Amino acid sequence: MPSPEFDLKTRFEDEARLFMRGPDNDNRSKTNPEPAFAEPFFGYCPASDHYWETVKEAAGQDHWTPLEAFQKAFPGDGAGPGGLTVAVIVCPQTKATVADQKKASGFPAERWIRSRFFHDQVVSKLCSHLAGRLAARGVRAVVPDQVEGFGTFPHPRFQIASNWSHRHAAFAAGLGTFGLCDALITRVGKAHRLGSLVIESRLEPTPRPYEKPYEYCLFHSAGRCRKCVGRCPAGALSPAGHDKTLCGGFLDAAVPRIKELYPDLAGAYGCGLCQSAVPCGERIPGRARA
Ligand code: SF4
Ligand code: SF4
Repeated sequence: MPSPEFDLKTRFEDEARLFMRGPDNDNRSKTNPEPAFAEPFFGYCPASDHYWETVKEAAGQDHWTPLEAFQKAFPGDGAGPGGLTVAVIVCPQTKATVADQKKASGFPAERWIRSRFFHDQVVSKLCSHLAGRLAARGVRAVVPDQVEGFGTFPHPRFQIASNWSHRHAAFAAGLGTFGLCDALITRVGKAHRLGSLVIESRLEPTPRPYEKPYEYCLFHSAGRCRKCVGRCPAGALSPAGHDKTLCGGFLDAAVPRIKELYPDLAGAYGCGLCQSAVPCGERIPGRARA
């Protein structure tokens, strides 16, 4: 008989897959409707893991620990980190989206913009749906970037920071390491969107098969590649890393052109060119796509 934790994890993942096979995972295209994202996969990290002691140094002092995120939603009940787990969901871009984006240069492909624009209605909704399903079983859970008080803000070292980073949660949960462009290199590369929850249950951790934050990036590990630098139309990438101000400027400037090209995507922004047609676009460099 499976342990209650195993059963909860299995149900959590089954419900996530079911949701992503349903009508909410939709790219909202009138001419070519199709799923916005491919089948998700998962990673888990206890809130008591030592990584969380360093997350404020890695992501900014205002980044919450899992316990802090949980206490924002459930203040004053004395929960400790020992009973909490961070669950991270990787929603890969579809093969069609990746193929289109690989062909794009200077401006992102429509499919990429579409999945970026409707991310909130798919991945964020998936996370709130899962939190609701857990609550129905009597298990409390919080989606940190949906908690009141969550925000993004200017940061002297990181240019822009927030109270919760799905990427740092995914790193902690064994799902991948960072690239020169800041995106997370996972077993399906960088073409994905992430969601995460803090769950009041001890779920078995996912092994973290790396030690360094940039271990999978060829530039950081071997001093070569820089392919993402050449893909960036904004000059936002260099050996010094990701200039979020230049990147954000390009994204803002793309908004009117996107509206002109695709009127139903008015208000959308996106780019992600550095996440495709590069050695880490669809896999961990040097390894088969898993
Ligand atoms: S394209 Fe190359 S340099 Fe850029 S993040 Fe990927 S592995 Fe690193
Ligand atoms: S998202 Fe676009 S603008 Fe931003 S760093 Fe990547 S390629 Fe450059």
